[in-house]
Amino acid sequence: KLVSREFQQENTHVKVGDAVFGNGSLPVIAGPCAVESEKQVMSIAKSVKDAGAKIFRGGAFKPRTSPYSFQGLGKQGLKLLAKVREETGLPVVTEVMDVENFDVVEEYADIVQIGTRNMQNFSLLRRAGKSYRPVILKRGMSAMLQEWLMAAEYIMEEGNNNVILCERGVRTFVRHSRNTLDLSVVPAAKKESHLPIIVDPSHAAGVRDQVVALSYASAALGADGVMIEVHNNPDEALSDGAQSLYPDQFFDLMKKMNAIHAIV
Ligand code: PEP
Ligand code: MN
Repeated sequence: KLVSREFQQENTHVKVGDAVFGNGSLPVIAGPCAVESEKQVMSIAKSVKDAGAKIFRGGAFKPRTSPYSFQGLGKQGLKLLAKVREETGLPVVTEVMDVENFDVVEEYADIVQIGTRNMQNFSLLRRAGKSYRPVILKRGMSAMLQEWLMAAEYIMEEGNNNVILCERGVRTFVRHSRNTLDLSVVPAAKKESHLPIIVDPSHAAGVRDQVVALSYASAALGADGVMIEVHNNPDEALSDGAQSLYPDQFFDLMKKMNAIHAIV
């Protein structure tokens, strides 16, 4: 299998802007759950860049549980992400939900993200495999490691080797967090595969206080990157406000997380 350590012993390095995923560094992706307005993304992008984030995130097409929730700004959101890149120089990552919108997302984004709900959307995976952009492949919320790696295989089999795995928590019986961050999947994935693996503590936790602790844990684990939701006004956020860090909180977290990364 293309995804396996047997096939390729050396770690895959995925380079985006000045970030490298898979070389032992800890690039941080940060930004809001959803792109809401120009003012919002510019404000957050400046804060996260000052704190040391290397890549900006923001959803334009949002996979919401309820059809009545904010669905994202669509193409207008992609244009705002392009403005963020122009203003700050940060590359941007955003989710692609379907084959139909792949061309436009790939045109605007530096990295395309496949969300947890689409991990086994095989036509979307195949289209991502034909993309010239790196892909963040989130783990399905109840996927086994082998299923996740086979999803990555679909992308690689079409010719795109720039795949970054992202653990974002799995569904369990607990109620103290939104999902359960599966810490052990990081070393397990590294053993089985040469692909970089990053952690998204925000969607795992669902509440901001846990995000801080889980980010430190991710750095200690040797993850190849971290993706964190940050909002300039979490109380008014149109999605995932409860798990979004305040900019000051993110700034402090970055210092401590980098210190932890430096000693492991
Ligand atoms: C996201 O990162 O914007 C997102 C929707 O995450 P997930 O697919 O992990 O729920
Ligand atoms: Mn979110």
